[in-house]
Amino acid sequence: MPEARATVSPGLHGFHGGLDVEPRKAPACDRPIGEMPLVDEYVLPLHMHIGAPAIPVVSVGDHVRRGQLLARPDDFISAAIHAPTSGVIKAIEPRGLPHPGGLSAQSIVLAADGEDRAADPFPPWPDYEDKSPVEIRSRLREAGIVGLGGAVFPTAVKLATANPGGVETLVLNGAECEPYISCDDRLMQEAPETIIRGAQMMLHAVGAARCLIGIEDNKPRAVEALQAVIDRLAAEENEDRFAIKVVPSIYPAGGEKQLIRTLTGIEVPRNRHVTDYQLLCLNVGTVANSWHAVVEGRALTERVVTVTGGGVAEPQNFRVRIGTPMAKVIEAAGGYTEGVDRLLMGGPMMGFALHEDEVPVVKATNCLLAMRPVDRDPAPAPQPCIRCSRCSEACPADLLPQQLYWYARAQQFDRSHDYHLFDCIECGVCSAVCPSHIPLVQYFRHAKTEIWSAEREKAKAEHARRRFEFHNERIERQKAEREAALAKKRAAVKAAQEKAAAEDADGDKAGGKAAKPEGEEKSTAAMSIEAARARAKARKARVQRGEASSDAPPANGEASDSPERPGGSS
Ligand code: SF4
Ligand code: SF4
Repeated sequence: MPEARATVSPGLHGFHGGLDVEPRKAPACDRPIGEMPLVDEYVLPLHMHIGAPAIPVVSVGDHVRRGQLLARPDDFISAAIHAPTSGVIKAIEPRGLPHPGGLSAQSIVLAADGEDRAADPFPPWPDYEDKSPVEIRSRLREAGIVGLGGAVFPTAVKLATANPGGVETLVLNGAECEPYISCDDRLMQEAPETIIRGAQMMLHAVGAARCLIGIEDNKPRAVEALQAVIDRLAAEENEDRFAIKVVPSIYPAGGEKQLIRTLTGIEVPRNRHVTDYQLLCLNVGTVANSWHAVVEGRALTERVVTVTGGGVAEPQNFRVRIGTPMAKVIEAAGGYTEGVDRLLMGGPMMGFALHEDEVPVVKATNCLLAMRPVDRDPAPAPQPCIRCSRCSEACPADLLPQQLYWYARAQQFDRSHDYHLFDCIECGVCSAVCPSHIPLVQYFRHAKTEIWSAEREKAKAEHARRRFEFHNERIERQKAEREAALAKKRAAVKAAQEKAAAEDADGDKAGGKAAKPEGEEKSTAAMSIEAARARAKARKARVQRGEASSDAPPANGEASDSPERPGGSS
């Protein structure tokens, strides 16, 4: 049965390339969002966002509550992590990540106590309009809000780095163009008011004048639900800043630059950001969670995940706590069907195959797609490139994939830069249209990984070089300081000796004595010793005569040659 469609809005603009793909959203998008039961253990990787890994603020053995801060952002671009339930911190150790390479990373392991007691990390701000943009950004940062459309870029940073000249239009991304994925669709159907209220708050936070909501025409129920809220607010509150734009379902209509182009006609060039055009683009789920954080004082501890594909018994969307093992989420969807041989995180175009299903749901997990061989097109063996240009005609980023492929394959990564590798959004369109079945996007992902890894190594080497130079400089500086101090001391001794010699000479002249031949004059030190001996002899004689001594040792125990002290007994 053909899927129902909403009417495409008039006056839209197209974008270069793209692909007409089968949506395959049903049956998951036809079922309400399900709730997941608590599980025994949650694993929270410290690095599940763009930017620096978070720094743990808890220790093994600590008791925590739901919403309590577990790890703080380590840098400007970083995100906080909070407890998904109450329990005890069981370990902070490397655990498997949802990653195409099957990597592990430092993670906080939380043993749930089953009580799900909540912390109150932040006060709710129903009066958010009294808060400044800085206060709202600070709350979003504290609550660990990141882009939930897949980018996982910290939202507070996105707002802070928006055009200093201001944002005129907020674009809500509800396009959700990738096949199978329907978490945003269900959220728009079930929580339209939260999304619109969240967008109102964002308009306040960035000072924007209007909000455009882009939704693909294959989501008629979402369009209807949001439009109902917009109409009600217009009637009751005179709210007239919102407009829904229904866009054609052409993959990847939900790419940020592609959606901006479709809605506004603005072509954001390479090396520029949409924020340079007084635009800010946010995913509908991000806006809803921003509302929870600011107005209700809730940290980001859960998200909606689509569990779908022919490999699961009962496809559905679930509200899943961050850190839940994926195997438990599959279980909630009725478990695997027979013959399943692949589990992807994300959709078939941009997702990646997982090595195991015990890895946790993270903030970027929008979809778990379980597939059997019959659920996907056969992948014939790649053939040589025939230079047909279909890939460049279809590329929505207007790149030359065949050139990129050539340089990526030859490991000439510098040349990949010249062909704008990092403008590739990894949509997979080029791979899908290639008649030679070359997995182009895989080459581009690999090339990016290699370049990042080389840059990390370079940065590490540079860091080590600077440390070494700093160490050498410090040693040299200390040596120079020591030598200078020694020279100063020597000069002072010499000056004192010269001064003493000059005084001796003056004293001799004043006493009218002729200068004695060298060797006959007693040195000052010898005279001092003779004087000390005479005083000791006199003291001994006084003691023998039984006289009370005024030469008793001082309170600090040091012998003293000083005459009687004021107030001393005698
Ligand atoms: S579509 Fe495939 S065969 Fe055609 S130019 Fe691109 S890489 Fe070569
Ligand atoms: S994967 Fe990259 S190169 Fe290929 S079509 Fe998409 S943006 Fe273009």
